[in-house]
Amino acid sequence: TPELLQVRNLKTEFSTDQGAVTAVDEVSFSLAPGETLCLVGESGSGKSVTALSIMGLLADNGRVAGGSIRFEDQDLATLPERRLRAIRGNSIAMIFQEPMTSLNPVLTIGDQLSETMILHLGLTKAQARERVIELLTKVGIPRAAEVVDDYPHRLSGGMRQRAMIAMALSCGPKLIVADEPTTALDVTIQAQILKLIRDLSAETGTAMILITHDLGVVAEMADRVAVMYAGQVVEQADVFTLFDEPKHPYTTALMRSIPHLAGPAGERLTAISGSVPSLAQMPTGCRFHDRCPQAMDRCRDDRPELLQLNGSPDHTVRCWLYDVPVAKVLP
Ligand code: SF4
Ligand code: MG
Repeated sequence: TPELLQVRNLKTEFSTDQGAVTAVDEVSFSLAPGETLCLVGESGSGKSVTALSIMGLLADNGRVAGGSIRFEDQDLATLPERRLRAIRGNSIAMIFQEPMTSLNPVLTIGDQLSETMILHLGLTKAQARERVIELLTKVGIPRAAEVVDDYPHRLSGGMRQRAMIAMALSCGPKLIVADEPTTALDVTIQAQILKLIRDLSAETGTAMILITHDLGVVAEMADRVAVMYAGQVVEQADVFTLFDEPKHPYTTALMRSIPHLAGPAGERLTAISGSVPSLAQMPTGCRFHDRCPQAMDRCRDDRPELLQLNGSPDHTVRCWLYDVPVAKVLP
């Protein structure tokens, strides 16, 4: 498949008082048109930084220090800010966890949604207003013709997230990057919003990078999954393979930590002991070694590469348990 997005060996650094810290290291993945890739991992694993690197929205002390981010025929990692801004909100849109941070509180819903359409699609004010009402209706906002004149604070959290989705869709993007889009919402609303996002992306053929710490969301939404730990992808596979045959000890531990995948009823949930290492003090060797129940001697010193599993070209894992020489003998 011709890829829409190809991230290769992405490395993102932040300058701090203690010197440069690497928040994302050797991250690679690709995305075909219409596909949904979930980035999953605990907080601090580098998921959001990966997304912000792609969007060119890193904080001032952050920078892409290596690798490439090919979107269609351009490398976003080296594109000047002006060109990047044209791509954002046009071919690539972003949905954040808390819509209040991205909705302007002093503009009506109608004014802020039509702003991007007037700017990027060249619509007149009246045309844009019509289109906004259509979009609000499409994302399930009742009384859209009235809501269009409301300010964001008048809407509930769920309705604001719907408005945010309408805004993301307003320019017909090829890629939506959604960072924990439902985490701030209560469970019922969460399910509605996920269904909305899924239906809309299926209908419009929009590809999506969906960031979540919730494997339930992954099971619901993903075509493919990249599991992140301490700034790296540790396992990547299609969603069925990942749930049926997780290989990396971290993936296995994550699976055991969620209730409905935890096996026979009554079985105690296994929390992953320890916590994600700090960026400033990354462990040597495998970054998971001090939490890994299967750690071996070499894991402390040797850093595993992302290896392709024998016989499954789309399943990769960063773990010495799978460093089987036979993989290299086969064509
Ligand atoms: Fe565990 Fe070693 Fe694999 Fe790391 S490389 S996940 S420590 S077995
Ligand atoms: Mg985050």
